[in-house]
Amino acid sequence: MSTKDYLEKDYYAVLGVPKTATAEEIKKAYRKLARQYHPDTNQGDATKETKFKEVSEAYDVLSDTKRRKEYDEARTLFGSGVGGQRPGGGGFPFDFGDLFGGTGQSTGGGAGERLGDLFGGLFNRGGGTTRTTTTSRPRRGQDIESEVTLTFTEAVEGTTVSLRLTSSAACAACTGTGARAGTTPRVCPTCEGTGAASRNLGNFAFSEPCRDCKGRGLIVDDPCPVCEGSGRAKSTRTIQARIPAGVADGQRVKLKAKGAPGENGGPAGDLYILTHVKPHAVFGRSGDNLTITVPVTFTEAALGAEIKVPILKGMPVTLRIPTGTPNGRTFRVRGRGVTRKDGTKGDLLATVEVVVPKTLDDKSRELLSEFNTATAGEDPRAELIQRARSE
Ligand SMILES: [Zn+2]
Ligand SMILES: [Zn+2]
Repeated sequence: MSTKDYLEKDYYAVLGVPKTATAEEIKKAYRKLARQYHPDTNQGDATKETKFKEVSEAYDVLSDTKRRKEYDEARTLFGSGVGGQRPGGGGFPFDFGDLFGGTGQSTGGGAGERLGDLFGGLFNRGGGTTRTTTTSRPRRGQDIESEVTLTFTEAVEGTTVSLRLTSSAACAACTGTGARAGTTPRVCPTCEGTGAASRNLGNFAFSEPCRDCKGRGLIVDDPCPVCEGSGRAKSTRTIQARIPAGVADGQRVKLKAKGAPGENGGPAGDLYILTHVKPHAVFGRSGDNLTITVPVTFTEAALGAEIKVPILKGMPVTLRIPTGTPNGRTFRVRGRGVTRKDGTKGDLLATVEVVVPKTLDDKSRELLSEFNTATAGEDPRAELIQRARSE
């Protein structure tokens, strides 16, 4: 029995009862008419047979509380019930062809669409809708977070790492539908597959995820036993990820489109790699520059010298320190630092640290005593003591 039947047929009139008739009154009326028109007592009378069918149909609907309610609602909505236009009394105010054509393709936002939706909701119109369901829409893959620990040199120079990535992908058993293999989820009748429900609060309409299908637009009656109906599965794969030169400890490296693959032609997500960098025994980092502390002797600092300074990769380089170099002075060795994004390199900052010999042989002791005598007139603390007093 279609909705169209509901609107075209006046079951109350068929049974000859008022719209307000009780269940008992309807039953009584039906029994009387059924006896009157029953085929057994009216052999070969086609008119009476038709009448019998109409009576039975009317009783089927009106004797069922739920169906009677739907019938009443439909007729109230379309003005054909209470005091409205009667069936056959000059037509309806709506084009039923549009409403019940079954194409499901209402265009525009006219009355037809709204009423169509109304019917969908009232009578659970399930069949015949050819709406694109949520699962067949292109979906972007998930972004994935991963972590990697690099040596100091790998971070400075850049490296390629193997990463095992676990992400959520479409369940292979049900191809992501969440329904047991061989079965198909049905379009959610509440939201008609849109996954959205709108709620009216006075003049405002809010859109929220449909409660019946949790926003999926589909309802699964027989869930996939592998993914328990979620449609999602863990997938593990190993990828080679290029870590660019110059990453710092705690930095997040974004690798575009290296995340979870997209579904139905959607783009892949991105991969974010949190980098941990192990400290180096000798070198430090200061932005794009590498740092190093280089021990020098007192005489090298005092007399000036050419000293060897190690670099991160390759043979040590020669650094000239001038006469009278104070302890802690920093020298710049150009182009021996961290590779920048544009391919240029930072510098190596070498800080000299004057070391004092722990032991002295006789010759050295003798020479240093001589030096001490030669410089006896200089008190390096004289100014300090003077300034301390003057404050
Ligand atoms: Zn829904
Ligand atoms: Zn599954």
